[in-house]
Amino acid sequence: MMKLIAGNWKLHGNQSFAEELTSGIIGKIQKSDDRLMILCPPFTALASVISATRQSCVQVGAQDCSAHESGAYTGEVAASMVKELGAQYCIVGHSERRLYHHESNKEVACKATAAHHAGLMPIICVGEQESDRDEGRAFNVVESQLRESIPADISAKDFVIAYEPVWAIGTGKVAGVSEIADMHAFIREKLIELKGKDGQDTPLLYGGSVKPGNAAEIMGVAHVGGVLVGGASLKADDFLAIYDAA
Ligand code: PEP
Repeated sequence: MMKLIAGNWKLHGNQSFAEELTSGIIGKIQKSDDRLMILCPPFTALASVISATRQSCVQVGAQDCSAHESGAYTGEVAASMVKELGAQYCIVGHSERRLYHHESNKEVACKATAAHHAGLMPIICVGEQESDRDEGRAFNVVESQLRESIPADISAKDFVIAYEPVWAIGTGKVAGVSEIADMHAFIREKLIELKGKDGQDTPLLYGGSVKPGNAAEIMGVAHVGGVLVGGASLKADDFLAIYDAA
């Protein structure tokens, strides 16, 4: 299965940074049938990154979208607006949105539905807090997130799941290979339960302090279909090394 290597730039990337980083990547990337790079810049850099990557094998996604199509929702950006620019993916339910913007599983499901209806592939993020893992609730938390954040009426082929243990995001702490293996096997089982046998093929990404030095090992774990990368996606050489590790 094709490995997805997605870079979440978060709140980084004015126009000159976005242009420099994108050109540093597309100048060196080799097209491949078994891996796909996706850049997720801030909304304001989407148009320029999409235009810079148009002739390349790199695809582009947004970091979030509104649950609404239009209306009196000041500051929001509709999935259809992102699609109109030429993006293909949209991250929804990142733990930073869940934490700082109090997004519930239900809201994440509405955003995933909006992304799907607009023709974008939602990357639905799930993952437990450190206290959940310490207190033995990690699997229960992830199961509820899967049940409630994945829209009931979309098929297993219409979304991507990113498992990102919150305690591993931006902390330098990476989940151990056996923790990643156990959780990805669990998520696969739940997807099959929720979506039938096609749940076997839904791409599952791991995210949380992925770096050039650990990417190959992580992507070698069963059911890991790629990575969602924050910090290391902001340096062309690091992100290209992660792509190469796939
Ligand atoms: C993320 O933001 O999704 C992420 C995984 O960040 P980092 O790679 O910096 O831990």
